[in-house]
Amino acid sequence: MSPMGLISKGSKMYSILHFKCPRCQEGDLYPTATFSFRKPFDMYKECPVCGQSYEPEPGFYYGAMFISYIITGWFSLAVVAFFRWGLHWSLLHSFLMLFVIGGLLFVYFYRLSRAIWLTMNVRYEPDWKQQEKSAAS
Ligand SMILES: [Zn+2]
Repeated sequence: MSPMGLISKGSKMYSILHFKCPRCQEGDLYPTATFSFRKPFDMYKECPVCGQSYEPEPGFYYGAMFISYIITGWFSLAVVAFFRWGLHWSLLHSFLMLFVIGGLLFVYFYRLSRAIWLTMNVRYEPDWKQQEKSAAS
């Protein structure tokens, strides 16, 4: 079992780490795997399972940019600090390593920021099927 398996369904961390729809936690957010690097910036328009819109309003992901800044900012500091002071590499080599690692994780961070932002703004509704039925009747 992966460490991510310890986070149970129903928590917001589950949707974020598994890149699942925050409403039903069944549907995927992205059509391709992160590290396949195929169509890295494609996202479904809505949840393929419950139909939750993934872009509730125009410019919705503007907010995700700020999350992305925070994540990449702290991540960059941590990487450079680790190689510079942890492994005593030169500053130049530490920054080169940051570009290599950052390049590999760029798509992941992009997707992670969107997943966090969407999950912050959409409520988990495990009984979404019942709710849709009662809304229709
Ligand atoms: Zn869904």
